[in-house]
Amino acid sequence: MSKRSGPGFTLVELLVVISIIALLMAILLPALARAREQGKRSVCLNYQRQLTAAWMMYADDNSDKIVCGDAEEYGDWETSTLLYACPGTDPTNSHCREKPWVLNDWDSTLTLAQKKDKIMNGALFRFVKDIKAYKCPRGNADEVRTYSLPDGMNCKVISGDPTNGVGSGAVLIKNRLQIRKSYERFVFVENGGLLTGTMGGWTVYVTRYAWWDIPSARHGDGTTFSFVDGHAEYHKWLEPTTFADIKKGISSSGNPVHDGNKDIRWASIGAWGSDAAGKGTK
Ligand SMILES: [Zn+2]
Repeated sequence: MSKRSGPGFTLVELLVVISIIALLMAILLPALARAREQGKRSVCLNYQRQLTAAWMMYADDNSDKIVCGDAEEYGDWETSTLLYACPGTDPTNSHCREKPWVLNDWDSTLTLAQKKDKIMNGALFRFVKDIKAYKCPRGNADEVRTYSLPDGMNCKVISGDPTNGVGSGAVLIKNRLQIRKSYERFVFVENGGLLTGTMGGWTVYVTRYAWWDIPSARHGDGTTFSFVDGHAEYHKWLEPTTFADIKKGISSSGNPVHDGNKDIRWASIGAWGSDAAGKGTK
């Protein structure tokens, strides 16, 4: 063994120490990232539970009628005659004198402060006055809201022909008592705010195995949902075709059909009580 020339490390010893540190970092960093993600996910779930409790309080105060789930995607609620006409041509599918839960905060021309105002002037804010609760901790800096309600939750049923109408055969939920399986029906969806145009209401097909609004995958391979019974859960996407669509991120009627896709089926049940083949729709 060679004699040491000084108190320091030899080159070999130094290399061993460095490689041990590198190994430890390789082991610890993913665990750290996982822990950070777990923290953000639980904050996100907590926000969704808060919003859902507010959604319930609104119904408690309004003889079981649920809050308008549109975010003024279909026009100014005080002046538009498209969805907000009084009396509406179809009372089961209109919002006569119903103030939306949030106003048009998705408008990309607004400043952050103006977007916040649109939320604070919505019908739900008095039940949950924490502006932070409207946005996932994984949200982007230019977003103030990442949660939406699915179309069926008193937002809009887009009918049309049986195969192409997004909401074909479905019933718009106006009243809490219309909902049968409260444990499987979505209230808030982490829509993700991936595209501002999708923040009006989350659109899922009733009768087609295709995505219209692409789901988000902000938490690992999945995202968070809250339900009519008040619980919120993390949902992991399963199908490779779902991830391919998420990557493309296009909200469109032109999205590919994936017959039997388990994720679309699950989303269709949550959004409509349908199974993406139109069965059991309520
Ligand atoms: Zn989230």
